[in-house]
Amino acid sequence: MHDNPADLFRRHGIQVTAQRLAVLAAVAGRPHGTADDVATAVRAGIGAISRQAVYDALGTLAEKGLIRCIQPAGSPARYEDRTGDNHHHLICRTCGRMADVDCAVGAAPCLTPADASGYEIDEAEVIYWGRCHECLAKPPSRPGKEEKTGPASRGAHGRDDGSLNRATAHGRKHRP
Ligand SMILES: [Zn+2]
Ligand SMILES: [Zn+2]
Ligand SMILES: [Zn+2]
Repeated sequence: MHDNPADLFRRHGIQVTAQRLAVLAAVAGRPHGTADDVATAVRAGIGAISRQAVYDALGTLAEKGLIRCIQPAGSPARYEDRTGDNHHHLICRTCGRMADVDCAVGAAPCLTPADASGYEIDEAEVIYWGRCHECLAKPPSRPGKEEKTGPASRGAHGRDDGSLNRATAHGRKHRP
């Protein structure tokens, strides 16, 4: 069951490279990570790797069924090495945390359309959206609490630029 990754690659007809091995290890070590997460982990492990090389490796591994790519609406694709079952995902709308959830039925497709229109259906894409336990545990934000979330969101460019522009515009107004 626990093949060494190089044998796994060979069995799937994938050429074994250090970069592909590192990408698979990164996905295995951090399920549901984005391509950027994978790139960061690979760089920490084997050193420099281009973004394109990460995408190429992820694409090859996904195509050959060694990893699974999940593409939630409005969020970057995530990757995991849990393949071969029909598990689904829970995603927190607030923090984006993603968790596995077993399929209640087991096999795909686990949902039956009202009318399949003659299609042979092999999969139903199921994502459960909601709020995670940690976000639910946080008290609802009140105006006074705004500073608390400030530092985290201050890194977002929109916020910085926004206040900068406002300050500039304000200053200009008062100039002759
Ligand atoms: Zn959350
Ligand atoms: Zn998963
Ligand atoms: Zn299901």
